[in-house]
Amino acid sequence: MKQLQLPSAFIQSLQAAPGFEQEAFENVHQSGEQITSIRVNNCKAFDILHSTFNISEVPWNLNGYYLAERPSFTLDPLFHAGAYYVQEASSMFLEQALKQTVDLSRPIKVLDLCAAPGGKSTLIQSLISGESLLVSNEVIKTRVNVLAENIAKWGAANVIVTNNDPKDFQRLPDYFDVIVIDAPCSGSGLFRKDTNAINEWSEQNVLLCSQRQERILADILPSLKRGGILIYSTCSYSEEEDEEIADWLTEQFEVESLRLEIKDDWGIVETKSPASNACGYRFYPDKVKGEGFFIAAFKKPTTNDGESKEWYSRSRSEKLSAKEVEVVQSYLKDPDNFFFIKQKDEVIAMPLHLENDLANIQSALYIKKAGVKLGTIIRNELIPHHELAISSIINRETPSVEVELDIALQYLRKQEIHLETERKGWSLLTYKQLPLGWVKLLPNRVNNYYPKDWRILNK
Ligand code: SAM
Repeated sequence: MKQLQLPSAFIQSLQAAPGFEQEAFENVHQSGEQITSIRVNNCKAFDILHSTFNISEVPWNLNGYYLAERPSFTLDPLFHAGAYYVQEASSMFLEQALKQTVDLSRPIKVLDLCAAPGGKSTLIQSLISGESLLVSNEVIKTRVNVLAENIAKWGAANVIVTNNDPKDFQRLPDYFDVIVIDAPCSGSGLFRKDTNAINEWSEQNVLLCSQRQERILADILPSLKRGGILIYSTCSYSEEEDEEIADWLTEQFEVESLRLEIKDDWGIVETKSPASNACGYRFYPDKVKGEGFFIAAFKKPTTNDGESKEWYSRSRSEKLSAKEVEVVQSYLKDPDNFFFIKQKDEVIAMPLHLENDLANIQSALYIKKAGVKLGTIIRNELIPHHELAISSIINRETPSVEVELDIALQYLRKQEIHLETERKGWSLLTYKQLPLGWVKLLPNRVNNYYPKDWRILNK
């Protein structure tokens, strides 16, 4: 095996980092060990995964599991059905940060500002209540598609995906109860997984990253409600991007640092920032079963100049006629819990109580995706959309045909498939009872409606 060489300037820069132990750190990078972990979508599947994989639990996340070996996720239909998300274990600690600082039983508005490809967003969505809203934002246009795809696969209706620069959120002052910033960083925490990143590391880049992190934080803080919670994380070991950012935040914005409880046997290092003693949590791969990660939680001060502004604006989207509502309702598990709008002929369902939020966000930001697309109504019939098939709001009484692995993979490759069934018309194709997408059953053939852009390309 090729020895992994960490740059000496990098090792030197970590000498004073809290909890850094050079020998153990270098050894674990050279060991070649690779850890694979997934987080299960509790809205979709649970038991299936226990029978599919050889797993053990990630101690700080209720739905997180380590796999004994890395399977081919591409060839697992459950992966495409959104039954789980492949996520690095340390970053799943966000669950603890949220559970320990936020009352998650309340309806809240959460912003995940740097969200692509969607690991933190899918985690947040699993924790918040159905009445809560998650705005999942990604500034880089080319990365929004994969974010929207992963959110669609996760299947929830209470998510809006936006494509905005952090400063655009200043159009929504005092709006969010929680803001999560998984900041772009120098990426040293992932050296073991992505050895190419090692060559890109430089002190200059650490400096650039820390300046960008400050800019992002300064831009976004006005949209956090007073008394709201800010969670900041990086996958960098550099103090300039971690504890020093915590110092800068507490000094510039008077946010209060929040301490999190950690168990001794988790191997996480609690740190205190040099100037303001703000708490941070470091994950070193020689101490935890996971990659490098840093996370810290803060509370924005509550000032006594009145309550946060109540938002209200009228929706600009076209509503459905009573007849059209009737057409779509039969496709949903709890149709009375949703409102429906039409956007370019496509019908979208969102939880009823989020109508004002959608209007507010529409007036301030560029929305890439909101709620669940149900499809297009033509002559009082719904041409169903793929998002509906893989959503967790679909009526599970919808006609479906269960298939084995080989047919499931042919379907996901968008190949021609043959099914033994007497049924005709639109039908879900399911694998281990989880919908993969739509087929249309015709008298002498089956039309495959799996989205072309999502199809499996390898053999
Ligand atoms: N939270 C994601 C997850 O868990 O899957 C990973 C996010 S990654 C660490 C950081 C993200 O920030 C990237 O998607 C990147 O495109 C985005 N980003 C880059 N520059 C940014 C900026 N100036 N403002 C906001 N986000 C930025």
